[in-house]
Amino acid sequence: MSDTEAFPTSTMVIKNETLIPQMDLRALNLDDLLYLTRDQRSLLDFLQSYNLIASSQKCSCHREMDIRQKKNEKFFWQCSPCRTTYSILKDSFFYGVRIPLKEFLVFLYLWAYKMVSYKTLKRECRITANCTVRDYKMVIRNICVEHFLRHPEIIGGKGCRVEIDESLFSIRKYTTGRILKQVWIFGGYEEATNGGFLVAVPSMDADTLIDLIKEFIHPGTIIISSCWSAQDRLGLKGCKNLKRTHKCNFIDPTHLDVETVWQDAKKERDKAECGAHGKTANSYFAEFMWRQKFGNAPLEILFQQIAEMYPV
Ligand SMILES: [Zn+2]
Repeated sequence: MSDTEAFPTSTMVIKNETLIPQMDLRALNLDDLLYLTRDQRSLLDFLQSYNLIASSQKCSCHREMDIRQKKNEKFFWQCSPCRTTYSILKDSFFYGVRIPLKEFLVFLYLWAYKMVSYKTLKRECRITANCTVRDYKMVIRNICVEHFLRHPEIIGGKGCRVEIDESLFSIRKYTTGRILKQVWIFGGYEEATNGGFLVAVPSMDADTLIDLIKEFIHPGTIIISSCWSAQDRLGLKGCKNLKRTHKCNFIDPTHLDVETVWQDAKKERDKAECGAHGKTANSYFAEFMWRQKFGNAPLEILFQQIAEMYPV
């Protein structure tokens, strides 16, 4: 049996006159992933077939570049006439990753299927430092954040329940860990529909919060918040205003017997992460919403979103 026959294929993409099978990612298991990325060339073909790295590259002199291989097996782009070279990972999500690419793909796979303990990720991806695991988890959570920022849904409605969260969010450059900027991120999630939104604002005050609730949450919604007190931020006047103009009621589940999915998930997460830092809370909210929404095809969706956010 040839390599291309070994796996069920959904579509075929043509590159360099070679047919590359693109496997149905919903059916792919870890064994398949390891086989499909068994050497450098296979690994690149795999990444190219999902548009995670470029399949062609133009030089600054406008000529098409070729893929070349160094003696140490590393591939790179080269323009033959002017000798310019680029990283094979140029412009991709993978540029700057400090662990071998194959291990990073395994990391993405394990994360997608919620095998996210530090111990597992360190062992399976041959990572020695906890901070590397933390950084890469954050990088993937940023994909979740970015997705809901790019595709916010307006949620709630009369009698519907929406859980909300807000936090100061640091956007970091993962190759250096340097903070690029800090923004307030406000989010909402509706369990009944798995719908959600995130929105970034430079500052968060009562007026901003009222505007955001009116923009993203339908009138008549029951709003659940406890990790922060929306009531505190809005004040009595703000709460009354929202109730009058937008028919929204606030519930604090810490004071009432209210079942919440996000709050429960957060308690679990706090245990697993030894009390995640408050400033990263919203990326956990994003991860939570992402898993609720895309948990049935996590790797496929993760690859699609990476390809959307890092066009090559
Ligand atoms: Zn050139």
